[in-house]
Amino acid sequence: MVEIVETKSALRARADAARAAGQRVGLVPTMGFLHEGHRSLMQAARRACDVVIVTIFVNPMQFGPNEDLDRYPRDLDGDLDACRAEGVDIVFAPSIREMYPREPSTTVVHVAELTTGLCGESRPGHFDGVTTIVTKLFAITGPCHAYFGRKDAQQLAVITRMVDELDLPVTVVGCPLVRESDGLALSSRNAYLSAEHRTIAPQIHAALCLAADAVAAGETDPRRAVDIVRAHLRQWPDFSIDYVACVDSATLQAVDQIDADTLLAVAVRLGSTRLIDNVLLGASS
Ligand code: AMP
Repeated sequence: MVEIVETKSALRARADAARAAGQRVGLVPTMGFLHEGHRSLMQAARRACDVVIVTIFVNPMQFGPNEDLDRYPRDLDGDLDACRAEGVDIVFAPSIREMYPREPSTTVVHVAELTTGLCGESRPGHFDGVTTIVTKLFAITGPCHAYFGRKDAQQLAVITRMVDELDLPVTVVGCPLVRESDGLALSSRNAYLSAEHRTIAPQIHAALCLAADAVAAGETDPRRAVDIVRAHLRQWPDFSIDYVACVDSATLQAVDQIDADTLLAVAVRLGSTRLIDNVLLGASS
């Protein structure tokens, strides 16, 4: 039986009681419209924790003024079915007012450096929204483990750094990126794609694979890997490239030479839909 909680006080009471009983609390923060990628995080939490909390909150603070906050896909009933199927114990689905009684929040959690490049460049303030809401969710639930997908590799690096530098008592668990059978990274935003754009969207992953193949064959020059991705995507004029970059997966700094920790990350627009994807070069992701 999944328990649906809408207030911070009820969630805190529930999590406090679980911890007092010696139970391990696992947290899976999401914005809902749950798919197999989200479900893989729930499964990882279910394996390691006694009480699994999934949060469903479309966080306005992480959307820019011209972004898709209003049209972001929502399906609470479908999400609850997914949570039930994965044996989740608690779903936290608060209102905006519950999470931000004072809007805009006067307190912001900011991670410098890691948030300026990649998605941070075209989405200023986005990661402040992410780190602020995640800190609030950690403070309310006190999880021993929190689960994040490698699909959002920059988000994972930023939260890992935040937890480390603020000495937060939680283990951040990065989970593998889940794809459709044609390679497209699962994303709630895939629902925006037109039928035509959906057929070309898998070329993002195909481009990353071409670069990964070159690296597996001995290529170590990050500029070459980036060129391979760009050249492939250029074949479909509907792709508008936001960035293609080779960075260290932990520091997100550009690398001179590719090694096993090098992340090849891409963001493109297809029509009005912004899609991200990445592979860890030298690993089979
Ligand atoms: P979102 O609801 O998009 O904010 O995502 C919530 C969590 O699910 C984040 O930690 C994401 O990285 C993770 N996630 C989203 N898509 C995927 C995917 N395709 N594979 C693995 N994790 C994912």
